[in-house]
Amino acid sequence: MSTRFSKLLLATGNAGKVRELSRLLADLEIEVLGLKEVAPSLEVVEDRDSFLGNATKKAREWARATGLATLADDSGLEVDALGGAPGIHSARYAGPDATDAENNAKLLAALADVPDAERTARFRCALVLVDAEGEVLHHTDGRCEGRILRAPRGEGGFGYDPLFLPEGESRAMAELAPEEKNAISHRAHASAAMKAWLVAPE
Ligand code: IMP
Repeated sequence: MSTRFSKLLLATGNAGKVRELSRLLADLEIEVLGLKEVAPSLEVVEDRDSFLGNATKKAREWARATGLATLADDSGLEVDALGGAPGIHSARYAGPDATDAENNAKLLAALADVPDAERTARFRCALVLVDAEGEVLHHTDGRCEGRILRAPRGEGGFGYDPLFLPEGESRAMAELAPEEKNAISHRAHASAAMKAWLVAPE
C-alpha cells in the first residue's frame, strides 16, 4: 500500500514497541527507522500534562533533530478510583527508578480498600505523527478498558499487565499470548487508527 511517506522515524527507545509498531506498519511502503539508526541522540523530557502532550513533544523534537517524519507515542494506566493516576506518571509511579514490581505493589496498596466494582481502569496510548518540520499531521488515542486485580497473575507482557483484567476476559493481560494482547491493546487500537489515516489521509 502506498502512502505519503517513504521513510518514518519511530521515536521510541523501547525495542518491544518498535517491533510491535513496525509489524503493524509492515504492509505499507514505508521504511521504518528506529532511534538507533539515526543521529544525533536526544534526551526529551516528558514534562507535559497529558499522553498527547508528551507524545507530541517527543515527535516534534526528534523530527527537528533528524529532518525525518516522525511517529511518537506515550502511554500509561488510568485508574478511576485514583482520579486517573498513575496516568502520565505510570513508569515512575513508585519513584524515579521504580521497577514494574514496585509500581504494581504501590498500585495494589493504593487500592487495598477499593471494592471490585470500583476498580475500573484503562490503558491509554497516544500516537502522534509529525512531518519533517515537526508539524502535527495526525494523532490517535487508543484505549483498552478493564479492571485492577487484587494480586498479580501471569508472566507475559510488561508494566501493569499482571494486575490488569481486560474487559470481557477471564485472564489477566500478562496471561495472554503476545498476539492476543496485540489484538486488544491500547497501542494496537491507536496504531490501527494511525495506519488507516496513513493509507487514506483526509
Ligand atoms: P511509556 O509509554 O513508555 O512512557 O510507558 C509508560 C508506562 O505505562 C510503562 O512503563 C508501563 O508502566 C505503563 N504501560 C504502558 N503500556 C503498557 C502495557 O501495554 N502494559 C502494561 N503497562 C503499560
